[in-house]
Amino acid sequence: NLPCTIVVSGKGGTGKTTITALLIDALIAAGERPVLAVDADPNTNLNEALGIALEETLGNVREKAFTESIPPGMDRTGYIKFRFHRVLAEAEGFDLLAMGRPEGSGCYCFPNALLSECIGTLERDYRFVVVDSEAGMEHIARGTVKNPDVLLIVSDPGARGIRTARRIREIAGTLGLAQDRMFLCVNRVRDGINREETELGTVLPLIATVPEDPAVEQADLAGEPIVGIPDSSPARTAVRELAERLLDAC
Ligand code: ADP
Ligand code: MG
Repeated sequence: NLPCTIVVSGKGGTGKTTITALLIDALIAAGERPVLAVDADPNTNLNEALGIALEETLGNVREKAFTESIPPGMDRTGYIKFRFHRVLAEAEGFDLLAMGRPEGSGCYCFPNALLSECIGTLERDYRFVVVDSEAGMEHIARGTVKNPDVLLIVSDPGARGIRTARRIREIAGTLGLAQDRMFLCVNRVRDGINREETELGTVLPLIATVPEDPAVEQADLAGEPIVGIPDSSPARTAVRELAERLLDAC
């Protein structure tokens, strides 16, 4: 049985990582486990949002493939595929695979096709695969997950956010992702939003609006896990409802 795959996308700073962490937490709480959490942002921070320590990332493994002696008969790619299982960080209800920039490296790129292959070899063990993306739209083109069940586009409420969400939708469409797999989540909403205008502007169905939540800000400032915010806090409540709606789409 293949898992349901959700890719969380959007422009920088819209709250992808925050929403991803709360979504994973909500899925687990709803009994939809185990979840494979994938941090596909080279600037790894999903682990912090989820409150777990990372010993190694795929980036570290890739670096070792260049600096350590590789077993005879194996090439670098083979070595990465052979070693990457050890990168999985195990937690209650989920495992985390982080792409991650190795300490000290400047320009960094982990081949997306390879990440895709790594996910592919693992995915059968999970009920859900939830991928937190880097900012922008390139990763969609690079296809971390081919044909996800859900592309969740996180946007801020402003006009620029709406335009960016629409562009992401268009790119995903040209890559062949079906329109009925794409959903919009507007985050950091203060005074409510006009649903009709938002859906017309993005050409996406609005699946959730997540309010601006002081508890999220406090956790962020204190360097505490996002999943530690109170159960009744507005953002957490909204993402719980989002998870329920996604269950219908999966
Ligand atoms: P991204 O992963 O898209 O770059 P993050 O999840 O890291 O975005 O969020 C960016 C910033 O916005 C963080 O400081 C985070 O605490 C804050 N933030 C995200 N969502 C909310 C919210 N609903 N309420 C308050 N602050 C939020
Ligand atoms: Mg992020």
